Amino acid sequence: MQRDKVVFDLIDREEDRQKRGIELIASENFTSKQVMEAAGSVLTNKYAEGLPKKRYYGGCEVVDEIEQIAIDRAKELFGATWANVQPHSGAQANAAVMLACLKAGDSILGFDLAHGGHLTHGSPVNFSGKLYEPHFYGVEEETGVINYDKVQATALEVKPKMLICGASAYSRDWDYERLRDIADQVGAILLADISHPSGLIARGLLNDPLEFCHIVTTTTHKTLRGPRGGLILMREDFDNPWGIKTPKGEIRKMSSLLDMGVFPGTQGGPLEHIIAAKAVAFQEALSDEYMEYILQVKKNAAVMAEEFVKLGYKLISGGTDNHLMLIDLRNKDLTGKIAEETLGKVDITINKNMVPFDTKSPFVTSGMRVGTAAVTTRGLKEKDMTKIVQLIDKALMNHSDEAILNQIRSEVNEWMVQFPLY
Ligand code: PLP
Repeated sequence: MQRDKVVFDLIDREEDRQKRGIELIASENFTSKQVMEAAGSVLTNKYAEGLPKKRYYGGCEVVDEIEQIAIDRAKELFGATWANVQPHSGAQANAAVMLACLKAGDSILGFDLAHGGHLTHGSPVNFSGKLYEPHFYGVEEETGVINYDKVQATALEVKPKMLICGASAYSRDWDYERLRDIADQVGAILLADISHPSGLIARGLLNDPLEFCHIVTTTTHKTLRGPRGGLILMREDFDNPWGIKTPKGEIRKMSSLLDMGVFPGTQGGPLEHIIAAKAVAFQEALSDEYMEYILQVKKNAAVMAEEFVKLGYKLISGGTDNHLMLIDLRNKDLTGKIAEETLGKVDITINKNMVPFDTKSPFVTSGMRVGTAAVTTRGLKEKDMTKIVQLIDKALMNHSDEAILNQIRSEVNEWMVQFPLY
C-alpha cells in the first residue's frame, strides 16, 4: 500500500506546531514516546468485547494480560479496589456511570457548565441533559468559589438521584466530605469527575475524592499524561442501596452495574491499544519522576497565577489550587475570542472560556483558561512562567499591532527550541 502522504504530511505539520508553540490549553499534555508506541501498536487489530478472562471473542490471552495490568496499576495509583479501564473517553465514562445508575428522567445535580462544569454533567445539549432532569449549582459571584450551603439547599429542594462534582474550569479544590454528607441527606449517588486534576489527586496533591465519593471518573490524557481515554474507579465496591436493577431485573453490586454500563451499555469492543497505553501511563504516573513533574505543574500554576494578578488580570476565585486558572478579561477590555485569536498569532495556544455570570456567548466569552500541565512536561519552570505571562500580556495589549505580534511569535519559536519535544 502506498504511504498516505497527505495525512502524514499533516501529522508532520501538527508535530511542528506542537514543537514551536507554547501549549497552555489546560486539558492538554504531551504523552511519552512509549505511551504513543503502545497506542500505535498491533493491539488496534484486536476485538475483545467483555472483560479479562470473560470475553466474547477468541485470541484474547494477551490482551487479557494487558488489560489486567492496566486495571491493577489504576487501582494502585488511586488507592482503589475496583477499576474499569475501557471507557473510550471522559464523556463515555460519565455516560456509562449514568446509564448504570439512573433511569431516564431521574434528576441530577451538577456544577453549572457556565461556571466551569462539564457538558456531561447535565447540559441540555448533551445526553446527560436530554435523558435526565438536570439541575445545577455554581460559584458565588463575589468570590468565584462554590458555596456548599447553597449546594445543600438545592439538593434538598431537587432531591437528585445523582450529585456530580468536578469541573473543566474550576481552580479550587473540592470538599468531598461535605458533598458526601449532602448526598447522604438526599439519598443521592455521589459521582466525582476528576478528569482535570486526576494526576494531582493520584499523587496526593489535592483532596482525595475516592475517600468520600461512591464513584469516580476521569480522563487519562490531561494531568495524568496518558493516551486520550477514560477510567472509572471506586475505593470500595458496594451493594447498591438504591435498588438499581439490571435490564433482567437483577440487583447487583455497583462494580457489576458499572462494568455493564460500559459494555454493553455504551460501548462495543474496548480499544486494547489505548488500554495498553493507559497501563504504560499509569506506571509512569507511579514513578518518582512523575511525582517531581506533578509537583512542578502545581508550582508553575501558582507562579503563573501570581504573575497574572501582578499585571492586573482578574482571576476567578483569585488564584489556583491546581494546574489551571480562569481569567476574566473584562477589566482589560478584551473578550476570550480576541485573546484566543491574538495568542494564536504568536504561537501561544489557550482557549476562550465563559466566566461565571458571563453575558457573552460561548463563541465570544469574557474569559480565557490556561493550565500548566503541558508546558511543565516540556521542562519549563517557575521563572519561565513569569516570562510566559509577560509575553501573553504584551501580545494582548498590542493585539492590533501585527509587527509586535510577529516579533513575539519569533521570540516564542526561538525560545521553544530550548525545550525539545520528542
Ligand atoms: N469531564 C471533564 C470534567 C472534562 O473536563 C472533560 C474534557 O474536557 C470530560 C469529562 C470529557 O472528556 P473527553 O473529551 O475525553 O470525552
